[in-house]
Amino acid sequence: MKLALVSAIALPALVSAHGVRDLHHARQQAAAASSPAAASSSAAPATSVAGASSVAGASSAAAATTAPGPSGAVSLTFTLQSTNPSAIPLSQIVSGASSQPTVAATTTFASGTTPTYIPNAPALPNALSLNPANYPTLDKTPDVSSPQVQEWIKAVNASGITIPDISPTVAGGCPANPQAAADSSRCWWTCGGCTDDDDVVQCPDKMTWGLTYDDGPALYTGDLLAYLDSADLKATFFVVGSRAISYPALLQQEYMAQHQIAVHTWSHPQMTTLTNEEIIAELGWSKKIIKDVLGVTPTFWRPPYGDVDNRVRAIAKAMGLQTSIWTRISPTATFDTGDFDIAGGLITSAQVLNNWENIIGNATTIDHGFIVLEHDLFQQTVDIATGYILPDALAHQPPFKIEPIISCLGKPMQDAYIETNDNTSNPIGTGSGSAASASASGGNSGSAASAGKNGAMSAFSAPGSLGAMAFALVSGAGALLL
Ligand SMILES: [Zn+2]
Repeated sequence: MKLALVSAIALPALVSAHGVRDLHHARQQAAAASSPAAASSSAAPATSVAGASSVAGASSAAAATTAPGPSGAVSLTFTLQSTNPSAIPLSQIVSGASSQPTVAATTTFASGTTPTYIPNAPALPNALSLNPANYPTLDKTPDVSSPQVQEWIKAVNASGITIPDISPTVAGGCPANPQAAADSSRCWWTCGGCTDDDDVVQCPDKMTWGLTYDDGPALYTGDLLAYLDSADLKATFFVVGSRAISYPALLQQEYMAQHQIAVHTWSHPQMTTLTNEEIIAELGWSKKIIKDVLGVTPTFWRPPYGDVDNRVRAIAKAMGLQTSIWTRISPTATFDTGDFDIAGGLITSAQVLNNWENIIGNATTIDHGFIVLEHDLFQQTVDIATGYILPDALAHQPPFKIEPIISCLGKPMQDAYIETNDNTSNPIGTGSGSAASASASGGNSGSAASAGKNGAMSAFSAPGSLGAMAFALVSGAGALLL
């Protein structure tokens, strides 16, 4: 009973955390529909359908010539090179669909297990001992008056990095903030796609895909991990702190399977709407929960909705985090599949595959690699990734090189974490000096390196009575469906 209660509380929060997404995705859908690649993808050789059409699930994908969307009829023509023989039929990847994950989040790693693929990586903490009571409320911006956040604020102030003195935006995006949107010195990605030289928005090498999944870990992440493992693919997971405390075993599973773990804030807000202190709280707690689960602190982060400006960038940099978004090659071609909105009924799975076709069409024409926005939060997003998008990408000729962002940038995996970062090849994680170190250690004294050795769990040893609560969170995937 206790297990079911925890799961029932956690799930609605996933949806409410994304309630502001409509505006963002209205733009994304329109962008994809008018993408320059639409013409070329619709003219793709029909022969590519033949091989896939004999496979279960592929016929519906290949035959998706017309798929009326929620906002009106949209003519879709696309082909897939290949689909997964066990793909869920597209007609069943819809809003409200629900079934049991085929791979439960059952893998737990003993405290002290050490990842051998990262030189000098610290041992895994005991995830079962995490005490949720020691962390902020799920899916809300954490209290900025807490001692931890106050310490992180001091560290940012002492970092030597200048935080631009510009006001937060108000909710409502570009239309609600005409002055900010027009202010090029703010470099607000949301309104016009402005990027800073430090932003990671693509992979350098042509035909290279920096594979990313956002908003997890969640119920169906295990299914995605199993597919990635079977296909020998590694990805970057942008982790929401509120999900990490709910599914620590899955986060460990991602990390131990050699995927890159990165920060995606605590509660998934539009970061430009927050005060400096709130931004620090969002990033600081996300770094802390990841370190408490994995023993390492990410050096990369992704702003939810790509909502970043120079103020948010500077704070993230002062906290040792490299801003990473996704590829946008023109005002009408952003590499967002739109997969997040299937669950909410705002887009059909056929439209997502049409977006994917546009993306892949553009990806073959640009002279650099690319990064695509996808999610592991919902069953629908995982089903469409494992059933259609990834098999299609893997069958593409010429082949794509598919790898985590850190790898596509030509850096070793140890550069993805403050505790193992090679200073010489990845200065971003250490260049901010004391701020990065202090925030990495979650307020503990000592350098980032020593914090990694000591482990941050000492302050978070859970009383035995709360061990059951932690176990319930870890076991949530199975419990929900029992
Ligand atoms: Zn997100």
